[in-house]
Amino acid sequence: MNEKQRLESEQINQMSSADVKSGANDNLNRLKNMSSDEMISKYFQTTYEPPNMRKAKKRLKKDVDIHYDFDIPLEMKAVGKGKKFLIRTYGCQMNEHDTEVMAGILTKMGYQATEDTNDADIILLNTCAIRENAENKVFGELGHLKPLKLENPDLIIGVCGCMSQEESVVNRILQKHQFVDLIFGTHNIHRLPQLVNEAMFGKEMVVEVWSKEGDIIENLPKARKGKVKAWVNIMYGCDKFCTYCIVPYTRGKERSRMPEDIVQEVRHLAAQGYKEVTLLGQNVNAYGKDLDFEYGLGDLMEEISKIDIPRVRFTTSHPRDFDDRLIEVLAKYDNLLDHIHLPVQSGSSDILRVMARRYTREEYLALVEKIRKAMPNATLTTDIIVGFPNETDEQFEETMSLMEEVGFESAYTFIYSPREGTPAARWEDDIPMEVKKERLQRLNALVNKQSAEAMEKYQGETVKVLVEGESKKDPDVLAGYTERNKLVNFKGPKSIIGEIVEVKITNTKTWSLDGELVESAVEVN
Ligand code: SAM
Ligand code: SF4
Repeated sequence: MNEKQRLESEQINQMSSADVKSGANDNLNRLKNMSSDEMISKYFQTTYEPPNMRKAKKRLKKDVDIHYDFDIPLEMKAVGKGKKFLIRTYGCQMNEHDTEVMAGILTKMGYQATEDTNDADIILLNTCAIRENAENKVFGELGHLKPLKLENPDLIIGVCGCMSQEESVVNRILQKHQFVDLIFGTHNIHRLPQLVNEAMFGKEMVVEVWSKEGDIIENLPKARKGKVKAWVNIMYGCDKFCTYCIVPYTRGKERSRMPEDIVQEVRHLAAQGYKEVTLLGQNVNAYGKDLDFEYGLGDLMEEISKIDIPRVRFTTSHPRDFDDRLIEVLAKYDNLLDHIHLPVQSGSSDILRVMARRYTREEYLALVEKIRKAMPNATLTTDIIVGFPNETDEQFEETMSLMEEVGFESAYTFIYSPREGTPAARWEDDIPMEVKKERLQRLNALVNKQSAEAMEKYQGETVKVLVEGESKKDPDVLAGYTERNKLVNFKGPKSIIGEIVEVKITNTKTWSLDGELVESAVEVN
């Protein structure tokens, strides 16, 4: 118990009911009736462990602890009975998957999911810290949620995900958004039952953000979105420390799950009828480097290729660690799809050096050539940052020329956003925002052109589509993805949702294909 908690527990008897969170009185009485002084003191116990970016940066030699004993304490198993939760997710697939885990935990606590904020008893914002505009969206959403909290003081509002790992964010919430009940970090997800319990019964904002290298928690429940495609974490964290990026500070060190745990999870998904898995990590090519036996992503992919699952993808790759063994395995097995997302960030070796990407333009191109040689039909996509501090016109032109030279079929493009605590955020920058925006526009025009050209090649072709459901724009149309990750819209019976079918392409657009159903089910393998 810290000093603040001690002072609070001393005040127990002096507090009037008005001091206590609405509805918590009942809970207090319940606690008083059912148990000891210890329980009552627990009522006022407030967790306060804020983030520390300096600690988050450390990389020690210590082994990673793997925990297989996750369980929800008995007294918290029915806490959510008759109540609902809503989780808003911002950012990458990793966050989407964390949301599935939190939804799994809350479901096990008795809560049900809802899409309606007015209906929710808990609202969690699972946040992204990668760029400033991602953060602004979250603060905007908090503004929208405030009236709900004023109307319903029992509502629990929580902020989690990467933003919670930042000191400046936690301080801003503490100062300006005091209606928030709960802040917890990316390393604290498995503590959700205890934290929700504390937010429910306590008076203060609960803050628990561990700034550590991280452990691995197995056996967490997951409420997956959909029954067709699934994400599977193969590793957590990142040790690359690219100079612009906040991820190594928010997600801890690179730590690989044990191969047998991953294989078992994929087997289980296959048995449940899932047709596609995407193996997830911030830098999946570093998979296995931290294990105390020789084992890499190529070895893992080979094992997974033998599981009866038609489609296996992986993301995100880092060019530096992409090895020959992986290329050999990808080329060999049909269910390991030939779509490789290989973020390059810049086409200029000088910019790559200051970004600390640890490869040059020439090395990247040599890797692309190797991949193309082994997999002539591979689709390559990428991430690009424009307007990195002091990026010259010539350096930007190198990015434009690389985009064409590789023939990327799509790219996520970003204007550089300084992230507090990263080295690049301290560098002066003499490139005006207007110039950065103009570069982004030119780059996007090229990305669109290359995407449209790649799509045109499918005109009249028959492709295999994993049908995911109704199109977002038209419920009479079905939508799914090809092996090379192209979105296809076509008409067909709803009964084929979840199947892999053949579709003949009749029209091509910049970002999608239209087609006609040829055959309803394709024999896989
Ligand atoms: N681990 C992956 C890699 O190394 O390529 C990507 C992780 S990050 C979630 C996704 C993308 O966000 C990066 O590839 C990069 O293009 C972009 N990004 C990261 N930090 C950024 C920043 N400070 N400003 C703009 N874009 C950024
Ligand atoms: Fe960020 Fe670089 Fe790690 Fe990717 S590899 S998550 S860009 S530090």
